[in-house]
Amino acid sequence: MTGTLAGKVAFVAGASRGIGRTVALALAEAGAAVAVAARSEREGKVPGTIHDVADRITAGGGRALAVPCDVTNEESVESAVAATVAEFGGIDVLIANAGVLWLGPVESTPLRRWQLCLDVNLTGVFLVTRAVIPHVRARGGGSLVAITTTGVGMTERGANAYWVSKAAVERLYLGLAAELKADNIAVNCLSPSRIVLTEGWLAGGSGREIPPEAVEPPQAMADAAVLLAGQDATGITGTVQRSESLPG
Ligand code: NAP
Repeated sequence: MTGTLAGKVAFVAGASRGIGRTVALALAEAGAAVAVAARSEREGKVPGTIHDVADRITAGGGRALAVPCDVTNEESVESAVAATVAEFGGIDVLIANAGVLWLGPVESTPLRRWQLCLDVNLTGVFLVTRAVIPHVRARGGGSLVAITTTGVGMTERGANAYWVSKAAVERLYLGLAAELKADNIAVNCLSPSRIVLTEGWLAGGSGREIPPEAVEPPQAMADAAVLLAGQDATGITGTVQRSESLPG
């Protein structure tokens, strides 16, 4: 494989559909071997499986491993990361993309929704990040990217469990950039600049009408992720990036 990511190994959490699938395909297209990690191994209510995505990559001449992974479960995360290292020999790049959406106001948020947002969107990022760090360090550097949202800054639009969980991830990653600078590991957050009409958004976006100018093509996140994946702490680190603000 040739390309800007040739020889690199990327672990993409939440790669069975939506933005994670687009990013996984783009990283493979750029030459990376990709661990396609998520829970869905068989078609369910929402389309997309890790095997479909891995098969698309290998059919295109790339290297992929479908790895079952529930980011909220420590053992599941550790074994997905171990399987990736056993298959590809290490990890250079993490895209911590797995996420759930809940846009309800605080007053009408059931506790289980609040907890799900924190478990998947925050603890999930913590677990996959903690699991890959020693492997990325062993490569002499690499890049960790957590997918967040512009909603973190939209305090005039209210509060919800989703935005709160993503705000915490941004704080986690900004601090982690300082911790890992000496290891030459870049640590950044990335979000779409606008809305990407993924399976998850269509299922959880509360049926909101989105004007065409507010819709972002999935390729913007793919291009931004490839750019961030290809660098280390000598480049961009300790930042919150928006897809359409990065050079294409
Ligand atoms: P999506 O279509 O719902 O996809 C979500 C992905 O996360 C799926 O692959 C799902 O896989 C995975 N996931 C959920 N729970 C998981 C768990 N416990 N363990 C492992 N994987 C899990 O969502 P999307 O719109 O592509 O969003 C992707 C990311 O971008 C999310 O972090 C989201 O917050 C962020 N984001 C999206 C937008 C947007 O406009 N779409 C805007 C801002 C930020 P399984 O169900 O197979 O496990």
